[in-house]
Parts: sequence; structure tokens; C-alpha cells
Amino acid sequence: MPAAYLQCVEESCRRRYPLDSKEHICAACRNLLDVSYDFPAADPSALRQIWAQRKTGSAVVDQSGVWRFRELLPFVPQGGNVVSLLEGRTPLIEVHRTGDWVGGVQLAVKHQGNNPTGSFKDLGMTACITQAARLGSRITACASTGNTSASMAAYAARAGMKAVVFVPFGKIATAKMAQALEFGSMVIEIGDNFDQAFHLLRSLADELGLYLVNSLNPFRLEGQKTIACEILEQRDWRVPEFIVVPGGNLGNVSAIGKGLLEMKQIGLIDKFPKLVVIQAAGASPFYNMLASGASEIVPVAQPRTEATAIRIGDPVNWKKALRAIRATQGLCEAVTDDQIFEAKAALAKDGVGCEPASAATIAGLRKLVQAGAIRAGADVVAILTGHQLKDPESGLRRRSEAELNRQRMHVEADLNKLRAALEDVLLQSA
Ligand SMILES: *Cc1c(COP(=O)(O)O)cnc(C)c1O
Ligand SMILES: [Zn+2]
Repeated sequence: MPAAYLQCVEESCRRRYPLDSKEHICAACRNLLDVSYDFPAADPSALRQIWAQRKTGSAVVDQSGVWRFRELLPFVPQGGNVVSLLEGRTPLIEVHRTGDWVGGVQLAVKHQGNNPTGSFKDLGMTACITQAARLGSRITACASTGNTSASMAAYAARAGMKAVVFVPFGKIATAKMAQALEFGSMVIEIGDNFDQAFHLLRSLADELGLYLVNSLNPFRLEGQKTIACEILEQRDWRVPEFIVVPGGNLGNVSAIGKGLLEMKQIGLIDKFPKLVVIQAAGASPFYNMLASGASEIVPVAQPRTEATAIRIGDPVNWKKALRAIRATQGLCEAVTDDQIFEAKAALAKDGVGCEPASAATIAGLRKLVQAGAIRAGADVVAILTGHQLKDPESGLRRRSEAELNRQRMHVEADLNKLRAALEDVLLQSA
């Protein structure tokens, strides 16, 4: 088994800590930690073959789209127990109409909404709750814009742990709240944005012995990095030119970047796709930093966007995200809520639904193609991070009564009236 340890992300520090350390930040310089490994030399084609064979296996670790790639997550010893709900194995769907709409790129979407609780958070949660169980933790906690809490609640239930979630008061989608409650977690509504809730939780977590599963927990990123493995495998290991992902706390882009770096190190790929992060214009501190050439992030005090999953003003993973963008010569863009909902409507014409934050990818892609930063014809994968049914209200709210009434009518339960109404409808659509 390869050596595995925690390591400070800061180049000038790189201090190491044991895997079972409960710290999530470096004691010397206060930066975040990575889970790092000394990977042994491996035969890439043998690895690809093993991973492909496991797809037909019946063991949980073979069926899970995270643990199938367990050679890349060796913080769990071979044969060790994992806490899984058979996450991952999500579809990569070609969307031609949407590809045309963004300006003529070859576009496929990797739909993470097809996960046990409906978002990519499940990939991180299986890894991080597995680690919590290894450490003997009994109570897990997170601050959340909704999806992390739904996911943590499910995986904590699976592991027989208690779960406490901190959410901003009145600012999370009903469906996400319902999930956390159904899985039995304690929900604390506090503050009016994620950053406030997170800050308060962080100040108390150690004192109260809570195992923190926010994406500053590096084990979350270990699970999420397998998104990159699945995409490459589904494309027969052809590297796309761009992978586009929405950015809130910037954990997912960091994870995908780490996955790509490790796959290149092992020889599974020989070049990088460019990673592209899209933020909501009202919550875009990372975009602002890159656009202004600043060397430090300036938090947005009042993050604003209807795409609640990326309504974060002070992203904890910005240094890891910067590393991913630099290593892959990536890009960053910001889009308005109007642009996000236009993109969501465009995707719907391909029969693909998602939550608003996910559609930011498509909106950002369109903007970058229009600006010439991405060429027409480019080979692009966009990550759709969450399920359509996570937040149906926001889309309905955006459509006017008149618009809805063109698509929806109430007809009296009478055969003649129904016939007349249908004749009208058929005439209109002819
Ligand atoms: C969490 C989440 C995001 C943001 O991911 P980060 O890792 O915080 O950048 C985007 N979309 C959805 C649906 C999410 O749940
Ligand atoms: Zn350090």
C-alpha cells in the first residue's frame, strides 16, 4: 500500500501530518491540507483494465463509482470497509442543441444529479464519512447551502452517526431541507449566508468534538476527484479540451484538478484539459481575483444569486483552485442570474434538467465562446452538479404567468370541452 499522509498545500511549507490527524489546516501556516500519496510506479493500461472489469463486479467497492478507482484513494487499506450508497457511475450525455446554442462546440454534460442524494456531494461524502468512521467519530457536522447537508445526512445515517447541519436561515431550497430532515439530522438555521454559518460552526467544531465535513476536509476532495477518472474512462481516455465546472466554495474544481494531476503523474493521461470555473456574478470573488490580477482573494460580504448552491462569498478552497487553474492553464468567468436561467432553458431543449448552479457552466461557456476564449468546434465537457428537482421553484418563479398559461390550461371534465381545447392546442402547435 502506498504511503498516505496529509500535507500542507503551501509550496513554501509542505509540512506533513499523519492521516489520522483531526486537523484540517496546517498548524504551522494555517493553510489547507491535501491527502497526498507516494504512488508506486504503475502500468496505466493494467489499471484501466482493472477499473473497467470492476464495473461488472457485485462487491460494493466495485459498484461504487468512487471506490472502483480505489488505487487512487489508498487512504483506505485494501479490503477496508467503506460507507457507500453506490454513488458515481453518472452519465456523460451529448447535448447537440445546447452545443449549438453556446456557439457551436462539441458538448457533453457529466450529470452528477444522478447520484444517491442528487448532487456530486455524494462522491465526496462517501470518502469523508468513511474516514470519519475510521477515526471513530460519532457526530458529523457541516455548514451548507443545502446539498452538502442532504448528502452528509444520508451518509451519516448509513454509518449510524449523528449529523448536525448549519444552514443560512430561509436561504436553502425546500427539497434540500426536506432531505436533511428525512435522513434524521439536526438542522440549525443560522445567519443569512453560508459564510456566516460556516464561520460559526468552525469556531465550535473542535471544542464540541464534531467531525467537520465541509470541503476544507481534504477527504471530500479525494472522492470528488474520481469525477475526472469517470469522464476520461467514458471517453476511452481521450482528453477533452475543456472541463467546465461551477465554483462556490471551489472544492469541486480543486478535486477535479487533483484527479487530473495524479492521473498524469501515473501516466493515465499525457496532457491536461483546461479547467474552467464559472461563478455567479453576485458571488464571484475568485473571478474578481483572477480578472484583477490580485494575489489574494477578497471575500464578497453579501453574496447574491438565485443559484443558491454557489452563493458563497469567501471560498475556503481558493488556493487549491488556483493551483488547478494554473496547472491546466484554465479559465474563469462570471455570469448573471439571467444568463444562468437562459442556459437552463437551453439545456431543457435537449431534455436535460439540472439545478440553477449547474447551468452556470453552460452560461459561462457561451460567454467564453462569444469572447473567443474558447474556439467554435472545441471538445468540451460541462459538469452538471445537481438534480433538476433540487430547486424547481426558482425556475417557475422566473416564468411569467402569461408564459406559463401558454403551456398549461385547466379544462372542465367534459368530453366536448376537452375536444375543443385539444383542437385549439393542436392547431397552435401545428
Ligand atoms: C456544492 C455545489 C456547487 C459548488 O461546488 P463547490 O465545490 O463548492 O465549488 C455547485 N453546484 C451544486 C449543485 C452544488 O451542490
Ligand atoms: Zn503549512
